Amino acid sequence: MTIEISNAMVERLRSAGALREALLAEQLPCGEVRCHICQRECLIPQGGVGYCHTKINYEGTLYCTIYGVISSAAADPIEKKPVFHYKPGSMCYSVGTLGCNFRCVFCQNWEIAYADAVESEAGTCRTGVTPDRLVAQAKAQDCEGVAWTYNEPGIWLNYTLDGAKLCKSEGLYTVYVTNGYATPAHLDAIGPYLDVYRVDIKSMEDRFYRELAAVPSVQGILDVAVRAKAKWNMHVECVTNVIPGWNDSEDNLRKTATWISENLGPETPWHVTRFFPYAKLSNVPPTPPETLYAAHEIGKDCGLKFVYIGNMATETGENTYCPKCGSLAVKRSRYTTRTVGLNDHGRCAVDDEDLGIRI
Ligand code: SF4
Ligand SMILES: [Zn+2]
Repeated sequence: MTIEISNAMVERLRSAGALREALLAEQLPCGEVRCHICQRECLIPQGGVGYCHTKINYEGTLYCTIYGVISSAAADPIEKKPVFHYKPGSMCYSVGTLGCNFRCVFCQNWEIAYADAVESEAGTCRTGVTPDRLVAQAKAQDCEGVAWTYNEPGIWLNYTLDGAKLCKSEGLYTVYVTNGYATPAHLDAIGPYLDVYRVDIKSMEDRFYRELAAVPSVQGILDVAVRAKAKWNMHVECVTNVIPGWNDSEDNLRKTATWISENLGPETPWHVTRFFPYAKLSNVPPTPPETLYAAHEIGKDCGLKFVYIGNMATETGENTYCPKCGSLAVKRSRYTTRTVGLNDHGRCAVDDEDLGIRI
């Protein structure tokens, strides 16, 4: 896509502190630039804009237009991400910006995800939120970490990298809540500074990604999730929003759970969450509770030790039980978390079983 990138537009972004020369940009002949921040790897001509509407090629140089641009911010329990096995009960300062590299037809955050971060909409955001300010705000709200969430952090590398570096030097943990479409190069850049990788595995079928998210294949997402765990030892948790008729077959759920267990480890938490009709999927009914209970059983049957049911009130679907002795380790209800059966090392208080919880 090309637009008229005026000097005034560039000046406005620059004076708001939003413009930075993009990382992982490859200069090509004739003024074109290839962006390697996410797996779309957009080829952007002069005057062009990336798929996510947050990168511009201005006079042959690629710029990020969302540095320090915050569309939403809140101090949230980490369980809300959802992340259940990392610092349970802690608060994390959660921030999002504009833009996305997916086009999910059921996106609940479309106002920010599909916003144009180049032309006008940054005007509705807070700008100039430098990493210093981000960390100061997190600390002022008694947060132990920072989460990049609400929209896709995998397009925001200039900012998340600076922010994550500062967080680590200031003793805060760091979280990506991501669709998993960052490139390996992106992951390797932020790898030393990112603690938690909370990734959606929407389906094991490319058809789902193609038809609902405008993404050709799931494989690259799986590969980068493995890299997060194997190369960078990040704490990884997976979410599958179970959509009737799209990814709720036993076969697909079984493939998803088996892949997680075999590639990320059986201790990896898998959150199966309830879908509610929205946007272009408003004709699809909410996930029946019995489908989620079945998914829970499938996950266990495929070797996963910790499967959680989300977006639906349940008696025990969010609790952590020791897979060895069955005792209750962490009790959760909505966003209230009580660690009732953990020892000082985050293991089962009864038999010291490793629950894969980092405290
Ligand atoms: S971040 Fe992804 S979608 Fe955005 S310009 Fe770069 S490659 Fe394209
Ligand atoms: Zn136990």
